[in-house]
Amino acid sequence: MDEKLQGRLNKVGEELKWILEPSKTSRKVRFSAESPCDKILKKWKYRPRETLSNRFLAHARRCPYENVVLTARKDYPGFNLHSYDDLMIRCKKLQDGTREQWLDWDDVWINPISISSKGWDFKTLQDGHLTCRCVTCSNTLCLQLKLGSQLNKRYWEKYVSSEHSMDCPWKKNQFDLKNEYYVQPWNLIRELERISRSKETRSTPIRHEKSSRFPRLTEKDTFELHVQGYEMMGEDLVQCTGCYKRAFAQSILQNEINFHAKWCKYYDCEKLGKMLKGSVVFPVNKNINGRLKLLENYFENM
Ligand SMILES: [Zn+2]
Ligand SMILES: [Zn+2]
Repeated sequence: MDEKLQGRLNKVGEELKWILEPSKTSRKVRFSAESPCDKILKKWKYRPRETLSNRFLAHARRCPYENVVLTARKDYPGFNLHSYDDLMIRCKKLQDGTREQWLDWDDVWINPISISSKGWDFKTLQDGHLTCRCVTCSNTLCLQLKLGSQLNKRYWEKYVSSEHSMDCPWKKNQFDLKNEYYVQPWNLIRELERISRSKETRSTPIRHEKSSRFPRLTEKDTFELHVQGYEMMGEDLVQCTGCYKRAFAQSILQNEINFHAKWCKYYDCEKLGKMLKGSVVFPVNKNINGRLKLLENYFENM
């Protein structure tokens, strides 16, 4: 085993021992005083409150420090840059609002997920003219979505990035789509949670009447649909949780067509299935050394 890895594992072991020791568990804060990260956070999280000299307020009790995070939240409402749920709510609104019309979305630059990742929320759509509003600065973005190949990087820079107000934090920031929206080994847990939730809601299922013209979906079928990113909407109707496209379950199961948008994280229908299988290792026939070796390889791959 690599010496560095051995050292790191020993350190983790010591920390765990320390935490699990009964006499120490009553201590509420373990790392705050020691951790350099905490020191940096504290340094930037609080600052002395600016006080205007006012003899009438002299006796008012005010905390001499203010929490900068809370102040920033008040100044920039809706700016939850790392919130996956907020991103998906904006994306769903855009997809629902534009579902009825055929628009020339661009696979990379101008599409519902890219627009949502810059803080734009759906407002209206008329004859191919999409209007969005920024969740923080309330500026308006107007896009002509019947331009074909012209919807590209230039269009993105000219409008999607620039239409925010000068001090809007979305102007220079964007939700990290590559690492947090698209399926990666480090966010696989989100997919597992989604599938698990879908299975739970499935336990109070959509009723299949005897006279139903749709074949009954087996548990294996629904699992296959979940792994391809879909959730059940009705008897045979499903909706993607990544691009909010809708389709018939039977068409998907018969591999008729790929219903996902090209920018959707589930566009490669097999990717998530492969990743889930790859992450599950059953070292049944291995002895303790073999299992440790597997664990070591797993950490090294991460
Ligand atoms: Zn803005
Ligand atoms: Zn999709």
